[in-house]
Amino acid sequence: MTAAAVLAKAGKKTIVIERSDVPQKDWRASTFHAATLELLESIDITAAMIDEGLIVPRYQFRDRTAGLVAEFDLTLLSEETRFPYRLQLNQQRLVALLWDKLNNDPNVDLRFGAEVIGTEQHSDSVDVTIQTAAGTETLRGAYVIGADGAGSTVRKSAHIALDGFTYEERFLIVSTPWDMRDLLPGIAEVNYISDPVEWLFILRTPDAWRVLWPVVAGVSDEEAMAPDEIQRHLQSVAASETDYPIIDKQIYRIHQRVAETFRSGRILLVGDAAHLNSPVGGVGLNSGVHDVFDLTTRLLRILDEGTDEASELDTFASVRRQVAIEYVQADTLRNTNRMRETDATLRAESERELREIAADPDKARAWLRRVSLLEGVQKYGIGLPPNEILERVEATAVQAGADS
Ligand SMILES: Cc1cc2nc3c(=O)[nH]c(=O)nc-3n(C[C@H](O)[C@H](O)[C@H](O)COP(=O)(O)OP(=O)(O)OC[C@H]3O[C@@H](n4cnc5c(N)ncnc54)[C@H](O)[C@@H]3O)c2cc1C
Repeated sequence: MTAAAVLAKAGKKTIVIERSDVPQKDWRASTFHAATLELLESIDITAAMIDEGLIVPRYQFRDRTAGLVAEFDLTLLSEETRFPYRLQLNQQRLVALLWDKLNNDPNVDLRFGAEVIGTEQHSDSVDVTIQTAAGTETLRGAYVIGADGAGSTVRKSAHIALDGFTYEERFLIVSTPWDMRDLLPGIAEVNYISDPVEWLFILRTPDAWRVLWPVVAGVSDEEAMAPDEIQRHLQSVAASETDYPIIDKQIYRIHQRVAETFRSGRILLVGDAAHLNSPVGGVGLNSGVHDVFDLTTRLLRILDEGTDEASELDTFASVRRQVAIEYVQADTLRNTNRMRETDATLRAESERELREIAADPDKARAWLRRVSLLEGVQKYGIGLPPNEILERVEATAVQAGADS
């Protein structure tokens, strides 16, 4: 829907094909970083998100036994972005805002309740076959953007492999309206809490506080989601005299995977269809939005300025795949391992490193620039013309060398 909003704003016709009958209502991602808010401004979405969301400039790393390890303050980035904070807002609110925008746009044909079942490429077009309650239908477009998530039919139809691994544990995320700050004094509104047995992730959104923990192999989804079991876990996080009210719960498998290519001819992959990662750090949805802006900038240049299609789309595929590996995969893997480290010496080393970074404003700024995805955008740009990318990467490397 983000891609459709960008293309429609530039006067291009798009068809959005969505299996669900209605816009997705599940909560999922709940963090938007600076670089993403900057991009979404161009389709007039950011102001509405800020109106609804929670501005969270500070977040903490904690140890479940020892307490606070380090606190990071995103206002250190005030000179680099107008959004020096994490915006906490559940993903379905972005979906709803985009739906409202697209629903009234004559350039967008919204086909909900329609499942993509196959694609077929021609020299100057792609056919997409959809299944609806009325039967099957084939639609033709100049390009297909596969934004159909982890199990992407579009990716599979283009025979693109999704290499990587799946974590043994699943993640369970539970939402409660209770203010966790009353129960755990001193916590921030976003907290990563390491522990050798059961690490945690506690964060606040406008609707609720959300607590995430790993579910080990051998425990079924049903057992993990049982109300008594959820209460037992929450009581171990912070004891309370009465049961926690629960307003949402989701259990899901976590992967670290990247598609072998983000392009096959006129089929382009973005978001979870192209790369999957652990949610620790909150960059999955964000990087998918960045893919979309990179790609749509290039498609508009091809369509409006006649730039070279192969060069633009190959650049999209290689740059966004590089960002997925160099930043999204690397950081989420490191973040997740940091939380679940069982070796006491390595845990102590990791906590010492975090304290040292947080205590030094220059190091903290560099850290925050990276985790808020600004560094990747500064290095590779978004939708930069193919011939400018190398120059940009070289200039960033020289600057980084000078800084260090
Ligand atoms: C519990 C949870 C918490 C998360 N927390 C965070 C977070 O804090 N921060 C973050 O950045 N990310 C987070 N993520 C990841 C984030 O939700 C995903 O990265 C994001 O949803 C990916 O967006 P997408 O549009 O690529 O795919 P999806 O959101 O999966 O959307 C794909 C859409 O395609 C539709 N579809 C699928 N197949 C077909 C088909 N054949 N035909 C038609 N339609 C189809 C689906 O119905 C769906 O609506 C979280 C994910 C989960 C599950």
